[in-house]
Amino acid sequence: MRQICDRLALIVLTIAPVSCSPILPRVEYTTHSGPKAFPKIYGVVLDDTFTPEDSSAIRSALSNWNIALNENIELTTDSNGPKWDNIWYVQNMSEGTCVLTLACQSDKGRALGFVDMLGGHKLYLIPSRVRSPSELTFVTMHEIGHLFGLEHNPNTLMDLYFNRRLYSCVDPLTAWAVARTNNLDYGAMNWCTP
Ligand SMILES: [Zn+2]
Repeated sequence: MRQICDRLALIVLTIAPVSCSPILPRVEYTTHSGPKAFPKIYGVVLDDTFTPEDSSAIRSALSNWNIALNENIELTTDSNGPKWDNIWYVQNMSEGTCVLTLACQSDKGRALGFVDMLGGHKLYLIPSRVRSPSELTFVTMHEIGHLFGLEHNPNTLMDLYFNRRLYSCVDPLTAWAVARTNNLDYGAMNWCTP
């Protein structure tokens, strides 16, 4: 049981006291040449219980990641496009459902989102626990890092604790880790610049 709890603590995202800035961080990305091969297509299926506003916030996170992935991999919600090489499901968790779910709570605080496992296929979001659509975008950004197999890493997008600045874009260390974990060419990735 202790091992299971440690594992969950690793993959859940917890709230830390943060100051709430109303201003979104300005994000600029590198503009490297992409790979020569066609991108792998990762289909992302959004739970149809998300509000249009929440869905839009989640799509913003996919767009942001697509800049970083730079056509090494392309995340899409369009099932009518090219055949999908992988599939991720994004599920809407209500407070009521969370009551029965261990990952919604950890010894470090309340989760805003979590994944089934590192490198897994399911991302769970708890929109009632974020304060704005932009925060839902940031939480989704972080959790996608876990779906790519990344563990927590301080002072990056993969920091354990929610942070508007760190969670706003794919930083160089996170881009490097995704490239290494997913056999992508790091030089053909993009990352945000301070
Ligand atoms: Zn996390």
